[in-house]
Amino acid sequence: MANNQTVMNYQIGRDFARHADDDDELREFRQAFVFPPSRNERDCVYLCGNSLGLQPKLAVRYVEEELAEWARLGVRGHFQAKRPWLSYHRNTRQGLAELTGAKKHEVVAMNSLTVNLHLMMSSFYRPTSGRRKILIESTAFPSDRFAVESQLRMRGFDATLDLIEWSPRLGENDLLIDDLQSILQQQGDEIALMLLPGVQYYNGQLLDMQKICQLAREYGCAVGLDLAHAIGNVPMRLSEWDPDFAAWCSYKYLNAGPGAIGGAFVPERHHVDAAHTHLLGWWGHDEETRMKMSSTFSPAKGVDQWQLSCPTVLSLAPLLASLELFQQADISRLRRKSLKLTGYLDFLLREEFSGRATSITPDVARGAQISMTIVDPAANPREVFERLQSQNVVLDWREPNVIRVAPAPLYNNYTDIYEFARRLRIALSSQQI
Ligand SMILES: *Cc1c(COP(=O)(O)O)cnc(C)c1O
Repeated sequence: MANNQTVMNYQIGRDFARHADDDDELREFRQAFVFPPSRNERDCVYLCGNSLGLQPKLAVRYVEEELAEWARLGVRGHFQAKRPWLSYHRNTRQGLAELTGAKKHEVVAMNSLTVNLHLMMSSFYRPTSGRRKILIESTAFPSDRFAVESQLRMRGFDATLDLIEWSPRLGENDLLIDDLQSILQQQGDEIALMLLPGVQYYNGQLLDMQKICQLAREYGCAVGLDLAHAIGNVPMRLSEWDPDFAAWCSYKYLNAGPGAIGGAFVPERHHVDAAHTHLLGWWGHDEETRMKMSSTFSPAKGVDQWQLSCPTVLSLAPLLASLELFQQADISRLRRKSLKLTGYLDFLLREEFSGRATSITPDVARGAQISMTIVDPAANPREVFERLQSQNVVLDWREPNVIRVAPAPLYNNYTDIYEFARRLRIALSSQQI
């Protein structure tokens, strides 16, 4: 939310951007990332950290180190590598705990997001005869919807009857917490699980995760948070908010590379005796005795007991590199800068593009993304998007007409926003008939 530290006196013109960059205490972090090259003498304006974050330079070193350890040690690397592979995932814990506001033993890097959603639902979706429905939001990311529908079907339920949707009001984009509360008042006692995002991927809305968790408790439902668009974007306090689980991917704002290893959070209260109610694999076995290959399962401590397979070290390495940068930058400082960057973008859209392009992202509750629609009647939105691309602006398009613009505060600056607006003007003007 905006506070005094995030209010800026925005101005049109390049000077504002230049001065804001000079005053930016986080400006050095930009140098820690690799930007795609210039095209036709135009620098790349990369505003797509919501989809795939840029490569931290340190990631190359960390991956190369593990390749070298593999070459040098072979299988002995599990124990003897500089960062032993057997416990490599633990190197990411502190960083993940800081970003999610969790205790170290409540977070783990493992699998990928949809897999983790299924894994978590296999533990925390516990339907009973009276309470078996799952609630999602109507604009949920397709993978989340598919995951939930298949969980319902696998238990013999009807994915059309037992799936409840929290929708924006007619003609609007934002999800209103009052509407969630009304659903819960009416049918809360039939809902076994709510699976909701921290930040909505399409319109960029930041949901009140604390309130969602509180409502879930009040109505006796389990709640899982999908943090795909929230982690590395907004500060969180998961231990305090206390959802039943959370899961995320690491290739968006976390910059851990395409298909990077995902992660999960399970609160301490669920750690004891949980082993009887979730899917098991050898990596969830207590680390001390895992290699004794006993046929009796003895759970690892904390969330680690949900691990199934040995993790991909080559995928953990870039995550570790990125988390180190987040720890140096600090998520609260990043959030303050992020609100200023999107505030500036919002200002330029209002001042310079009124009647031509507009934000559909809620003003008061957003992450690092502004979802923009082209409303200029003389323009074809898809063509505007393509004209932006041909000027080396990297964004993404979401059907039917949304362009997502996501300045990542770790490596984007105010000049990126200024340049985006300048190139948008060109893209729109070449549209005029
Ligand atoms: C990006 C994203 C996914 C992607 O899932 P993967 O399993 O990592 O391919 C799923 N859900 C949401 C909400 C996302 O934003």
